[in-house]
Amino acid sequence: MKASDFYGRRVLINAAHHEELAGVQRLPTMEVGRHYVRCLRCNQLSERRVAALPHQQFYCRHCLQLGRVSTLDQFYHLPEPNQFQPVVPVLTWQGQLSALQARISAEVARGMRAHEHRLLWAVTGAGKTEMIFAGIAAALQRGERVGVASPRVDVCLELFPRFQKAFANIPIALLHGRNPAPYAYRQLTICTTHQLLRFYHAFDNLIVDEVDAFPYASNEALIFATRQAIKPSGGLLLMTATPGPALMQRVRHHELAVSYLPLRYHGCLLPQIRTKLTIGWRERLGKGRLPGTVARQVQDWQASGQRFLFFVPHVADLRPVQVALGKHWPTLSTLTVYAADPKRLEKVSAMREGKVQALITTTIMERGVTFPGIDLGVLGADDPVFSASALVQIAGRVGRSKKRPTGKVIFWVDSISRTVLAAKRQIALMNRKGQKLRHEVSIV
Ligand SMILES: [Zn+2]
Repeated sequence: MKASDFYGRRVLINAAHHEELAGVQRLPTMEVGRHYVRCLRCNQLSERRVAALPHQQFYCRHCLQLGRVSTLDQFYHLPEPNQFQPVVPVLTWQGQLSALQARISAEVARGMRAHEHRLLWAVTGAGKTEMIFAGIAAALQRGERVGVASPRVDVCLELFPRFQKAFANIPIALLHGRNPAPYAYRQLTICTTHQLLRFYHAFDNLIVDEVDAFPYASNEALIFATRQAIKPSGGLLLMTATPGPALMQRVRHHELAVSYLPLRYHGCLLPQIRTKLTIGWRERLGKGRLPGTVARQVQDWQASGQRFLFFVPHVADLRPVQVALGKHWPTLSTLTVYAADPKRLEKVSAMREGKVQALITTTIMERGVTFPGIDLGVLGADDPVFSASALVQIAGRVGRSKKRPTGKVIFWVDSISRTVLAAKRQIALMNRKGQKLRHEVSIV
C-alpha cells in the first residue's frame, strides 16, 4: 500500500499480517470494558457476550458492512498532509447565479473560510449545489482537502458528474459501497456518509448534502463519523430543504450558523399540496379500479399528454396501480420503479428522456431526481411510510423548471394525517418567507 492510502484515514489491517510501513501510526480498533466493548470506528457499544469471538477477542456488529472491525485488527493512519498540486483554473463552471443565490453563495464561502459549522436551509429546487461551488473552489485554492457526502448513493451519483464538469482540472474520488474502483487519495472526494467511517481528521471542509435523508438523521454512528472525518479545526456545512427537529435544535442552541433560502432558483414559490379524500382506495384498487377523483385527474393528464409521477406507499402497491391505469387507458405508457429494482437507473432515464408518460414509484424518487415540467400525485400520502419531510421533498419535484415553474401536487388520502398537515404547513411557511424576501429584493 502507498503512504497516501493512509492520509486522513483509518485503514483496517489484520494485526497478525501487517507489513511495517515507515511512520504509519497504528491505532487500536476497540475498547474492551468489563461489560461492554466499544468500536472505535463507529463509536457504538456492544455487550461483551454478543460481540465475543473465540479466545477473548471481540468484534463490532454495527459497522459490519464496511468490513469487520475486531480486536484482531489495527487501524493504520497517517495525518492528512494536504499534498496537492495547485491547478488553474480551479472552477470551470460557467453558469450564473441569481442575485439571491449569489448572496448565499458568498455567505457559504465566508463560512468555509472561517471553518464554521453551518446549516444551509434552502427549499427544494433552490440550486444548492451551484451555491457551494465558489466556497469549494476557494477552499481547494487554499490547498484544503474537501469532502462532499450524502446519505444517499443516488445523490452522490447525481453530484459526481456535475462536480466533474464544475472542477474539470481536479481529479475527484467517488466512494460508495457499490463502486468497485480502489480508493485513491484526492483533494476532492464525493462519498456516501457511510464511507466517512473510514476517514479520520481528513477534511478541512466537509459538506453533507440531504442531511435529513434516511438513515443519516437518526444514526449516531454516521453523525459520529462526520465529526471524526473533519479535522479538529475543520468546517462543516450541512444542507437540506427540510431540517428535522434535531437539526433545528442545534440551530437554536447556536451550535450551527444558518443560511436560509426560501425561494427557488427561478424566484417562484413552491407549489402547495392539494389534498383529496379517497377513502378505501386500497380495496378498490384490489378490484382493479381507481377511486373517482384519481381517475378524473389521470384522465386530464392523459388527455393533455402531461407527464406525471405517481407515488404509492409500498412496493406491493406498484403493480395494482399500473394494472388499473392500463385498464382505463390502454395507450398510457407507464413504468414502475422501487429501491431494489435492478432496472432502476434505466427506468429513470426513460422517464427523463420522455419515453414514458408516467413513472409509478415508491418514496425512492422523493429526492435527488429532477424531471422538468412534471405534475405528481401521491396515493395514500397519509401512510406512515411518508414522513413530513419526505412529503415536502416529494412535493418539491414539481415546478423546478424555469419554463414551467408551477405544477400540480395532489395527495390522495384516507384522512388528513398529522404528517400531511405538517408538510402543508412547512410549504406555507417557506412560501410566506419567500414572498417577503421577493418583496424585499423585488426580483419580480
Ligand atoms: Zn463499529
